[in-house]
Amino acid sequence: MRYVDVILPLPLEGTFSYAVDDKKANGIVAGMRLLVPWGKSKTVAALCIRVHDDKPDLDDSKIKEVLDVLDPAPVILPHQYRLWQWIASYYMCTMGEVMNAALPAGLKAETGYRPKTETCVRLAAKYRNEQALHIAIDLLRRMPKQQKVFLAFLQLSHWDVYFENPCEIKELTREELMNATSCSTAIVRQLVVHGFLEAYDREVGRLNHAGQPHPENTKTLNDAQAKAMDAIEAQWKEKNVVLLHGVTSSGKTEIYIHLIEKAIAEGKQVLYLLPEIALTVQMTERLQRVFGSELGIYHSKYSDAERVEIWQKQLSDKPYSVILGARSAVFLPFQRLGLVIIDEEHETSYKQQDPAPRYHARSAAIVMAQMLGAKTLLGSATPCMESYYNAKTGKYGYVPLMQRYQGIELPDIHVVDIKDLRHRKMMSGPFSPQLLSAIREALSQGKQAILFQNRRGFAPMIECKVCGWVPHCKNCDVSLTYHKRLNMLTCHYCGYTQPVPMVCPCCGNPHLSGRGYGTEKIEDQIKEVFPEARVARMDLDTTRTKGAYERIIHDFGAGKTNLLIGTQMISKGLDFDRVAVVGILDADSMLNYPDFRAYEYAFMMMSQVSGRAGRKGKRGLVVLQTRNPLLPVVQQVVSNDYQTFYHDLLAERHLFHYPPFYHLIYIYLKHKQEGIVEAASQQLGAQLRQRFGDRVLGPDKPGVARVQSLSIRKIVLKLENGIARAQTQQSLIALRQQLLNQKGYKALQIYFDVDPM
Ligand code: ADP
Ligand code: ZN
Ligand code: ZN
Repeated sequence: MRYVDVILPLPLEGTFSYAVDDKKANGIVAGMRLLVPWGKSKTVAALCIRVHDDKPDLDDSKIKEVLDVLDPAPVILPHQYRLWQWIASYYMCTMGEVMNAALPAGLKAETGYRPKTETCVRLAAKYRNEQALHIAIDLLRRMPKQQKVFLAFLQLSHWDVYFENPCEIKELTREELMNATSCSTAIVRQLVVHGFLEAYDREVGRLNHAGQPHPENTKTLNDAQAKAMDAIEAQWKEKNVVLLHGVTSSGKTEIYIHLIEKAIAEGKQVLYLLPEIALTVQMTERLQRVFGSELGIYHSKYSDAERVEIWQKQLSDKPYSVILGARSAVFLPFQRLGLVIIDEEHETSYKQQDPAPRYHARSAAIVMAQMLGAKTLLGSATPCMESYYNAKTGKYGYVPLMQRYQGIELPDIHVVDIKDLRHRKMMSGPFSPQLLSAIREALSQGKQAILFQNRRGFAPMIECKVCGWVPHCKNCDVSLTYHKRLNMLTCHYCGYTQPVPMVCPCCGNPHLSGRGYGTEKIEDQIKEVFPEARVARMDLDTTRTKGAYERIIHDFGAGKTNLLIGTQMISKGLDFDRVAVVGILDADSMLNYPDFRAYEYAFMMMSQVSGRAGRKGKRGLVVLQTRNPLLPVVQQVVSNDYQTFYHDLLAERHLFHYPPFYHLIYIYLKHKQEGIVEAASQQLGAQLRQRFGDRVLGPDKPGVARVQSLSIRKIVLKLENGIARAQTQQSLIALRQQLLNQKGYKALQIYFDVDPM
């Protein structure tokens, strides 16, 4: 007997040991998956991390045996395992949780991975010489239908000319043969049964084959871009990470393309991360035009089979040179990674919220690049505080690019005071007269407009104007959002839905009315104002189906639609030529967000969505509607004054002990009973305070203090840079364990969110 240590894809600490007989053990190496028993009757696919002879310190009866070996070769590379370990330790979760997030579902299933196959036909071996082939044709004389198909087969596969002029024989699928000859499966089957053809199965890639690379489609960089590229490469000589701070439409993407070409020419692989699947649509087209089938795409809208196939391809001897993907692409295997590009590096969607691992793909990618000796480029028009600080203090390189391509000016941003306009009764619902006339002008000139409202649904809530009743989620402490198309009330936290009541359940008033504006209502109302406009809406609700993003983006790009309404999904990275006007309908919902990062987010979101305007040709116009026109952050967006914005915010962060000067760890406690979670969090808060003093805030009720029937408390820990991090985290984990061991606290959930967003 030998033994293996494995990790299980479950939220459990540590590794587990199983026995394995010598014969099986011979075929096992670290990185393969093994089927092992779990609990009384279950089995799971575990990942082997070590094969050894040290008998675990357990009764023989307690040591269970490996049931099966699922892979012929390792499915993860050594550096991936090290990355998992880094994530588990930095983000304070278990290896099993990381494994769960890292492997596509097809590699977690208990059946090994089975590739899709298709049936092919080839000439039977005995007929593969000239004389025999003539005999075969002759033999088929009495079966004219079969003979016709057979002759067609010879032509399609090139056997008809082979003996005169030896050439490559073409592989044919049964499908292709049937289509070319309009024959039935029965005819092909007879040819096989009678020994003229052989049928066999071939694996089929579900992956797109985009054809040869086209280096001629690479655009020549202008002077400013070429200079920026040189500066990036020069700084990589000294630093692993460089921040490219380029205003919207400065041509950052074109610089990336040149850097990718160089990396490929040196035989390296590139990982190109984007924060949002919606963005991969346009970027796929741009990159495919240059890199053809060298480009692989990886994100969660791909089917599981496709993801497994890309994974396997990355392990093969012909991996993709470039992987374009969202967050999870950081978990793919890379054999010779040379460059990581993190586009729109400021985006918060790079951070996974729930479930664990609550990792930040930017940090994970930087760590992986360092492990593999690759360079990292962060790109953004609005870098996040942390990255900009790292660049300014010399940890990262810094390359600015402050000119739009072809010198087009950044858009003209008009701030309109909606409080004042409302007061003077000049608003048409959510639209200011300035916005409406700008849209009217754009549409009349054949241009397009984008309207940004960061709330989906029809109305954020409905209420009874008589008694003030507002419907709430039964599982969460939030009001329900009204979705008019479905005539439903929906909870955006847990997904609970219910029909809209006919009358107020409190007072019987039959006129319940919506309050506020979601994207659905904006769509309805703008259609009323501009009945001739071709309106599209992009938000979570309209992009649930496969291909929905592609359709909306294509139609808008091609001018089939000319007015696009959307949530933050439309704020980032998209490159359209004909957008003359961008409307930001309600800046205040961002500015008033209860979080220390509210202004940072608002600045980024407003600058980014403005950046969609006037990218080609004429200068674009942005109408920014707010009740707070004089707020400095609004003025800084208008003048694109990142420097002042950053400077002010940094001073504030320093004063109040926030990142980038302090690291944050949020500790969440959840339990069905409010009393228990309150008592437990008070106890933990007191213990933490004993140890960490005034670095501890709370416990507090978070903004939404009950989700999915669990009451929540939050404790904030602010740790100054340079504090012994590993030690601190260990003591946090020990404190959690102490608490969970206490009577009555078994069902308590306690988890950490490190570097929360
Ligand atoms: P960013 O990524 O900085 O927002 P893009 O790379 O999307 O900017 O560039 C904006 C637009 O200008 C794109 O349509 C792009 O193709 C075009 N563009 C940028 N640089 C060049 C160049 N050197 N030659 C031709 N077109 C360019
Ligand atoms: Zn009422
Ligand atoms: Zn809910």
